[in-house]
Amino acid sequence: MKSFLVFALSAVFSCTTAVFAHDLESSADQSCARYLGNEGVMITAGDTKVLFDAFYSQSYGQYALVPETTQAALLKGAPPYDNVSALFVSHVHGDHFSPAPTLEYLRSNPEVTLYASRQVVNTLQGVEEEVSSRLVAFDLAAGDPAQSLSVGPISIDVVRIPHSGGPARADIENLVFRVSINDRLTVMHLGDSDTDERLFAVHQDHWFAKKLDVAFPPYWFISDPSGRTVLDNWLRPAKTIGVHVPIVAAGNGDAWRAEQGGDLFTDPGEVRALTAAGCDH
Ligand SMILES: [Zn+2]
Ligand SMILES: [Zn+2]
Repeated sequence: MKSFLVFALSAVFSCTTAVFAHDLESSADQSCARYLGNEGVMITAGDTKVLFDAFYSQSYGQYALVPETTQAALLKGAPPYDNVSALFVSHVHGDHFSPAPTLEYLRSNPEVTLYASRQVVNTLQGVEEEVSSRLVAFDLAAGDPAQSLSVGPISIDVVRIPHSGGPARADIENLVFRVSINDRLTVMHLGDSDTDERLFAVHQDHWFAKKLDVAFPPYWFISDPSGRTVLDNWLRPAKTIGVHVPIVAAGNGDAWRAEQGGDLFTDPGEVRALTAAGCDH
């Protein structure tokens, strides 16, 4: 009887251990993108989460704001927005970044570091040391070689690609972040990059240095032939999800994806699995 009990207990224990280990293994392999609004996305890779362009106040009457319930959950660090370690900002425009909600987020989430252009960080001058110590500014001119930084499981390579709209927008420091997490997933966020292939050709070594899993360009890269050339010849991502889609596309995503000829985020709250291991979040 005693030996039976021991056997039964050990069987239950090893079974539980096996299930637990399996869960850990599968969630560690999972990678997800969750759409927040406009160019705002949260990337999850295993236990690591990062945000892009998540705190902004301007819709300019055209673009999706982050829904209020999502903003509140982000601020509180409530699941699925818990354990975020980095916030990347592509550029200073109000449909990508606003100082007030960004500061509120950094104050209430002391584990988060912000990575952005000098132009963005300058708008946060004078903040208390507790926050300013978590602001990382990149000083980059268009055409400068990539700058790189590694922090824990996150590797960052960044270049400046001019903002779409030509010389009138040349003063905008638009950064293209390539972020690798745990050496397993590499994503790229393009901000409001111009689609001129020559702007990308000068960075050939940078694009070709690493296999890119997922690119998040503004949606005009997908429909515009020159944007398509940049994706096919230079960035060469395994997967592309267009962002910055006008709010009129919300609720009508399938038609927009078919018309534009590629995947797009159109409705805040959409989630995509980024790797074969899927996405339970
Ligand atoms: Zn812009
Ligand atoms: Zn924009």
